[in-house]
Amino acid sequence: MEESILNLAGNELQKELLKAVKALKGQVVNQDSLSVGIEWKKTPQTVKKDKSGHNINKEEMLKKVCREMTNCQLCPLGGTRKNIVFGVGNPHAKIVFVGEAPGADEDEQGLPFVGRAGQLLTDIIVKGMKIARKDVYICNILKCRPPNNRNPLPDEISKCEPFLKKQLQIISPKIICALGTFAAHTLLNTDIPISALRGRFHLYEGIKLMPTYHPAYLLRNPSAKKPVWEDVQMIMKEINL
Ligand code: URA
Repeated sequence: MEESILNLAGNELQKELLKAVKALKGQVVNQDSLSVGIEWKKTPQTVKKDKSGHNINKEEMLKKVCREMTNCQLCPLGGTRKNIVFGVGNPHAKIVFVGEAPGADEDEQGLPFVGRAGQLLTDIIVKGMKIARKDVYICNILKCRPPNNRNPLPDEISKCEPFLKKQLQIISPKIICALGTFAAHTLLNTDIPISALRGRFHLYEGIKLMPTYHPAYLLRNPSAKKPVWEDVQMIMKEINL
C-alpha cells in the first residue's frame, strides 16, 4: 500500500518535472536566456592553425599592434624617422632578441639589425646557435631611429615600451635575450651595469631573460665575444639546442 502511494507520488513528481522542463525549453533561445545566476563559459574561439600547426592568431595579433603604430607621433622621433622598425621573425619563436633602437640602415629598410651589428647578430644566431634567422624574433626597445644614433631618451623609451610589451606578451617566448645596456635596463628596470647583469638568467614577466653585450659593442671590443658566446650557450641549453 505504502509502496503504491510512493509510486503515485513519484509519477506525479515526474510529470511536474517534465512540464517544467518543457516550459523552460520554450523560453530558451540561447545560452544567455539560461542565465539563472550561473556563469556560462564563453564558447572557446576557434584557434586557426597554419600548415605547421601553429596558432596563426599570434601573427594577426602582432600585425594589429604594428598597425596601431602606423603614423605614431607619441614622441619627437615620429618627425625624424623614415620608417618604423617594428620587428621581424617568427611569431612562435622560442627566443626573442631585443636591441636598442634602429640605426641608419634599419631606418632606411624598416627592418631591425640589417647593418654591421646586424650581420654579427645573424652570425651569432646562424653560425653559433645553428638556427635560421627567420626562426627567431628580433626587435628593439625603440621602433624609430634616434637622430645621429644618439642614445634613447627616457621619454622616448616610456612612450615606446608599451608596444614592445605587447609584442613580448603575444610571442611569449621561452627566452628573451636583451642586447646591450638599454635593452637590459629597460626590461629589467634596473641600472646595474650590463657587465654585472650578464651571465645569468633574470625574469621579465615570468620569462627567462639573458642580458648580454650588444653586437655593436662586440664590433668595437672583440674580446667581449667570449662572454657573449658563454651567454648564448646558456640560452641554447635552456631551449635544448
Ligand atoms: N642596433 C640596434 O640596437 N638595433 C638595430 O636594429 C640595429 C642596430
